[in-house]
Amino acid sequence: MPRRQLPFFENVTILDAGAEGKAVARVNEMVVFVPFCVPGDVVDIQVISKRKSYCEGKAIKFHHYSELRVEPFCTHFGTCGGCRWQNLSYEQQLLFKQKQIDDHFTRIGKFAFPAIRPILPSPLTTGYRNKLEYTFSDRRWLNADDMAMPEDQRQSNGLGFHIPTLFDRVLDISHCYHQPEPSNAIRLAVRDFTLQKGWSFYNPRSHKGFMRNLLIRNTLSGDWMVIVVFAYDAPDEITELMTFIAEGFPQITSLIYVINTKQNDVITDQEMLLWKGEPYITEFMEAPVEGGRKLQFRIGPVSFFQTNPLQAFHLYKTAFDLAGFKGDELVYDLYCGTGTITNFVAPYVKKAVGVEYVPAAIDDAHVNSSLNQIENTVYYAGDLAKVLDAGFVLQNGRPDIIITDPPRSGMHENVVKQILQIEPAKVVYVSCNPATQARDIALMMEKYEVAAVQPVDMFPHTHHVENVVLLTIR
Ligand code: SAH
Repeated sequence: MPRRQLPFFENVTILDAGAEGKAVARVNEMVVFVPFCVPGDVVDIQVISKRKSYCEGKAIKFHHYSELRVEPFCTHFGTCGGCRWQNLSYEQQLLFKQKQIDDHFTRIGKFAFPAIRPILPSPLTTGYRNKLEYTFSDRRWLNADDMAMPEDQRQSNGLGFHIPTLFDRVLDISHCYHQPEPSNAIRLAVRDFTLQKGWSFYNPRSHKGFMRNLLIRNTLSGDWMVIVVFAYDAPDEITELMTFIAEGFPQITSLIYVINTKQNDVITDQEMLLWKGEPYITEFMEAPVEGGRKLQFRIGPVSFFQTNPLQAFHLYKTAFDLAGFKGDELVYDLYCGTGTITNFVAPYVKKAVGVEYVPAAIDDAHVNSSLNQIENTVYYAGDLAKVLDAGFVLQNGRPDIIITDPPRSGMHENVVKQILQIEPAKVVYVSCNPATQARDIALMMEKYEVAAVQPVDMFPHTHHVENVVLLTIR
């Protein structure tokens, strides 16, 4: 429908902070999603797309600003897709996250559950991330100030984040609050160096341009990994830039480059060329019990590790405490990734079995077990929907406790069915999407009841919420 025929709603009060980070209003029984608004705002809304049961709109005019608003601290707020809740105070963000879980469990789950425990706030609300991925672009997003400039004076190259829904547009970032320093310093130095050299930035439509991506990862222990992705091999230029980075930032402990000549940005299938340091960084994590041995995890350039490492400890500790191990249990850790939870619990149980479908992650999981001298773990690489069957249980034993931490899509129906067959005394369900978690738990109600619900905030200023549920057999 052309935009002029789409409805325009006046004086609408924003009611809620919705699931995907968009604020929610209701007009004549129709749900309207509006980004960058806050509950309590009164706005005029131009609808930009209309579906059967809801529409998406844009706030055109503010009649009243909500009392819940705070001033966003980042200059990129409103354009960058990163932290859409920065205009809400952190306390309000936590309340809305908590409410999201209540809503999903009530509306989708329709099962009985005890009072949701107060959400665990993140120890850090800025600089909490250990990984950022930047993209070079020859068509950076131009703001109003840029547009006011004569065209021949505008810099069209940029290094930053993709604009939401526009895959070929990148917002040049001057400062990002997500990762501690020297993250910004490294990005700006690389951008300025390559701009001064006049090297070309990549264009994802024409597939032309030399500079493609920049990944920066760090650990709490102070390791830094930088990965520069070039579109083709140019040894002199690559030497120049890598030498510049190594000399300018001696704190980098793992400096890597990649030559990605493919059309897509995925580098997991590419060769990692080590320029300086180690091919990995190492993260340390406290033990879940007092006096327990600290764990270490080796993180390679493509290994997964929870992106808020301080809060990851509290997430795992929550799962650990809810499981309430006595010491003699057989535990399955489903969707185990690099075996972080598996290794976190293994020293306190009889045996832990991790399953994950990315073979490289399983390789990391093995390394992490031996690095920590943990010998009672077993890992399998495979699709859980197929791997977890009666034969698997026969081979590995029937678990007393299952910990499951699936991706946003939740568990496959077969996995839920298998858990119901296996009938462990407890299931600890760690989820990054309470909607699919509610759906999955609803399927388990014939045999399980919800004994505890503990939300954990891993991603301040975003709508994302992690939730841990303890299910006990009836
Ligand atoms: N528990 C881990 C990682 C959880 S992320 C941690 O805390 O670090 C979810 C994991 O599920 C990812 O590693 C993903 O590769 C894996 N996964 C997704 N679908 C899967 C499937 N069908 N079978 C097995 N593993 C799967």
